[in-house]
Amino acid sequence: MPRPDFPKTFPQFVLRFPTEAACWNYLVQSRWPDGFVCPDGHRGGFIQTRKLFQCPDGKQWSATSGTIMHRTKVPLTIWFWGAYLVTTDKRGMSAKGFQQQLGLSRYETAYMVLQKLRAGMVNPERGLIGGPGRTVEVDEAFISGGRQAEGHKGVLQTLLAAVEVKGETAGRLRMQISPAKDTRAILAFLRSAVEKETTVITDGNPAYKRITSFGYDHAVEEEDVEYRLPVIHRVFSNLKTWLLGTHHGAVSHKHLQAYINEYVFRFNRRSTPMAAFQTVLGIGSHVPGPTYDELYSGAWVHPNRPQR
Ligand SMILES: [Zn+2]
Repeated sequence: MPRPDFPKTFPQFVLRFPTEAACWNYLVQSRWPDGFVCPDGHRGGFIQTRKLFQCPDGKQWSATSGTIMHRTKVPLTIWFWGAYLVTTDKRGMSAKGFQQQLGLSRYETAYMVLQKLRAGMVNPERGLIGGPGRTVEVDEAFISGGRQAEGHKGVLQTLLAAVEVKGETAGRLRMQISPAKDTRAILAFLRSAVEKETTVITDGNPAYKRITSFGYDHAVEEEDVEYRLPVIHRVFSNLKTWLLGTHHGAVSHKHLQAYINEYVFRFNRRSTPMAAFQTVLGIGSHVPGPTYDELYSGAWVHPNRPQR
């Protein structure tokens, strides 16, 4: 049996996931389309009373084990709504908005569900962008991390970005918060994000001077060009609008990379947003996701967060 597909419209979603049982069935069918198999390949039985699968050597699995919903006390319907909203709403979701829309009594529940869904928003095997015959714009921007309460401006952080371009049109995007904007940091980002033999367009920043020695073709936009690096500047400006609009600029320093990941994830799937539905729920990808304690203590490291 093939994996079940994902709902593509709002009415489809409502019809398919009205109850806990409907969500549970969808999870089981998505994870084990040909019936339960444990990670070691054993076929197993099902304990009806506890809703657990058991393999011959005695180990047990729930429908949510190995997903971001593991051991959750939050109803599956809430998780499914969260996954639907974060993948389809271009503006993304603030925890406050999510709490209100779903009528959740606790803000912390909304916050935790969204953060876990965001943890599913980086594909661990994502490849490099660009390649022979392709063109990529690369640039840096300053972005304000840190809560902008009480008139404080927040901490400016360096954002490094690379986007495929075809004329005025954007292809795939990669972005990373960087602890520095020196040549070393910029080159490290470039090599982690962009394939060799790509034509890389940059501004006149001397940090890009040596990139041909790493196998890139380099085109420098001159100072007097009216719209320099137009595609990447549009990306920066949309990102800033999103951070200000949906999150009111109140994204903490610690979590900024997670929001950047969310933006990039949605950007790269903008033509097929619902295809990400199973991905963010962690079905099949085994993204563990942070616990509430890990998020608050800062022990959780967001994927892509720069190493210091
Ligand atoms: Zn087994």
